[in-house]
Amino acid sequence: MSSSSGSITSLDTIIGQDAAVGLLRKILAGGRIPHAYLFHGPAGVGKWDAVLAFSRTLLCTDDGAAEQGAPCGRCRSCHQVAAASHPDFYRIGLYPKKEFPKSPRPKEEIPPMALDFDPGEHELLTQVRIQQIRWLNTQASHPPAEGSRRVFVIDPADRLNPQAQNAILKTLEEPASRSIIVLVTTRPHALLPTIRSRCISIGLRPVDPLELAALLEEKGYTRQEAEIRSALSGGRPVAAETLDLPVMKSRRAGFLADLRALAASPAALAELPDMTRRILGDGELDLLEGLDMLQGLLRDVARCGAGMPRESLLHTDISADLVELARQISPDRAGELVALIDRLRLDLRFNVNKSLLAETVLAELARPR
Ligand SMILES: [Zn+2]
Repeated sequence: MSSSSGSITSLDTIIGQDAAVGLLRKILAGGRIPHAYLFHGPAGVGKWDAVLAFSRTLLCTDDGAAEQGAPCGRCRSCHQVAAASHPDFYRIGLYPKKEFPKSPRPKEEIPPMALDFDPGEHELLTQVRIQQIRWLNTQASHPPAEGSRRVFVIDPADRLNPQAQNAILKTLEEPASRSIIVLVTTRPHALLPTIRSRCISIGLRPVDPLELAALLEEKGYTRQEAEIRSALSGGRPVAAETLDLPVMKSRRAGFLADLRALAASPAALAELPDMTRRILGDGELDLLEGLDMLQGLLRDVARCGAGMPRESLLHTDISADLVELARQISPDRAGELVALIDRLRLDLRFNVNKSLLAETVLAELARPR
């Protein structure tokens, strides 16, 4: 890892998150730092980068760091964070199954894995357990080992089981002055309202696709690939760079074919199980990604139907297909479906039956007019 300040993650290097970054800067410059945060936003939007930039700045011992919203990149603390060895910076997450005690003693406290632990092939527990939070609670009451603060990140916070959520509440209610707790989640609604209300909410959103495409181009992608990655990621910067291009393209092609078939003839409803599976994907994140993609395609169809130019589309690389589809699906109809998906996405917060949800979208699409 380079020690030059230019390569260090700082709030300056986070693009397209003006609201979140502005709030973090204000907090850092304000002097009295609140003790609890909830970073939330879709997978691949860059939450960890934002948490890292914020934490590094908090822990940096350079006098100007907080005011400028950027770690110096040179002090001992900055080097330790970069080397994942800072004694006051911890990330509490899903434990590898094999490493976690089978039957922990009643009051056992279990420290987190190293900051640079790579889950890789490890089979992970599905929940963050109370023993991990007990460790945090004890540690949070201790003064920092080196600097002026300690930072404890819980990620993914929505996997805190009910006992663990209740255990963290106490620390959130009676904070130790120099311990900062940062919760990170794609599903803030899965946390107790009492937890959410005690945290400063830092929301990260998908970035404008044009802005993201330009950024990817700067990073060395060809114009065409930058546009495709931006569109397929739905504006999520980390996802745009890590997504599997052939897999995502084929998923999109599947959706296009479904839209075409259903718009042409409700008889295609016979293929509903296959289509439903395609939307559901593999787990909730996949489903959300699928709904985003469907909405993106429908918005493009509406734009084509309204005669807007190719440049106004998200999925410019398949503009011919979208123009074709716009002959079957009117802009109004496409708009209705986009709104319907918005409503269904909200329903997802309440553990609705996900297959039913996907079928509702498809059935609506095939409804005769
Ligand atoms: Zn520093």
